[in-house]
Amino acid sequence: VMGGILCVNVIKYERDNDMGFSEKLQEYARLVARQGVNVTAGKYVLLFCSIEAAEFGRMVEEECYRLGARDVIMIYKDQKASRIRLDYAPLDEYKTLPEWQAEQRNYYAREGCVTINILAEDPEAYAGASSEKLQAGALAAHKAYKEFYDIMDKGGIRWTIAAVPCVEWARKVFPGNTDAKAVSKLWESIFKTVRIGRGDTVAKWQRHDRVLKRRAKILNTANFSALRYKNSLGTNFTVGLADCHIWKGGSEKCAEGVDYFPNLPTEELFTMPDCRRADGSVYSSMPLSYQGELIENFRLDFKDGEVVSYSAEKGYGALERLLSTDDGSRRLGEVALIPCDSPIAQSGILYYNTLFDENASCHLALGECYPDTMRGGELLSEEELLARGGNRSANHVDFMIGTDDMEIVGIKKDGSEMKIFENGRFVI
Ligand code: ZN
Ligand code: ZN
Repeated sequence: VMGGILCVNVIKYERDNDMGFSEKLQEYARLVARQGVNVTAGKYVLLFCSIEAAEFGRMVEEECYRLGARDVIMIYKDQKASRIRLDYAPLDEYKTLPEWQAEQRNYYAREGCVTINILAEDPEAYAGASSEKLQAGALAAHKAYKEFYDIMDKGGIRWTIAAVPCVEWARKVFPGNTDAKAVSKLWESIFKTVRIGRGDTVAKWQRHDRVLKRRAKILNTANFSALRYKNSLGTNFTVGLADCHIWKGGSEKCAEGVDYFPNLPTEELFTMPDCRRADGSVYSSMPLSYQGELIENFRLDFKDGEVVSYSAEKGYGALERLLSTDDGSRRLGEVALIPCDSPIAQSGILYYNTLFDENASCHLALGECYPDTMRGGELLSEEELLARGGNRSANHVDFMIGTDDMEIVGIKKDGSEMKIFENGRFVI
């Protein structure tokens, strides 16, 4: 099906656009391998790829080899097969991950790999599936891949995530269109979000990176102790920022000193909250797709950093599952600011995919923090990190809270205040 639709797209694009569809696709594959994960000579590449995206995955594979990759290990993911397994395999099979399977990822992490994730996911692939199995599977994977994640947390692995359309996803984003038309529209909007089109893609990404870095510097200089959010949805919430937190955005540097972009696209500035300091209520502003199920119009009430009560108009069970995964799942691991005039927000498209939607709206994440959003955080043990307010969890789930009337005030240690956001936009 994918192949056929791809052909339809080629014809459409070559008629309408400055750059043909196949050219844009090639540029995208290059972007993933170069700006995305920045493959350097002699590196192993673990390339996780949705089976629906195989064609694009092979293009990325080739780009990696062109950049001097030592080997590219293709690991295909099949959501439909996973769904069948969820419906039939017993719960016990989800509770542990065989050693041989864990070793694949851990081995390459030890050998110094980079990882690429190419997603083509149906946001509702696992709707109604066993929540117990999904949760057990997530916990078992987190435990089995501990070595991999530890190396990653210390900046030892460059990684990137990018997405391509699949029919189910496109239908959800552009309902009321033929499948071919919906997929075509989704391709077009993805290319826009990753700045592929007229002009030099690399130069555009460099410019974008500079803007993000400049704003991060302002926030880092202010060194706020907390942020207070308010909007008409009902959000009235204060979150503490960890001591020595660092605002980050755009490209990152791995331990080897090589730049990479963990997410394509990326519009956010983000940092580490103190997981012991969050009080008040937060209302979601966009649906959240969690483990293939949608959670909509939900509210979280925090006290001393922890979610103490919650509600959801849709997907309450999934929200409950998310919050009960482990202790850290009820606390925050990330605070991110995105103005409502960012290109993705301006497009007005709801992607039902965190990679895009998180770049359209201010968000928070429940669960694991990013140790590198604290000065020296990568060097701390789990206990030390926790003692400084860095959250630990098997989950890291972003959810959107930004609106075009969001007001955010930064509060400094001495109690003085500074307005950061007004009407959903930066005022700094
Ligand atoms: Zn984020
Ligand atoms: Zn996040």
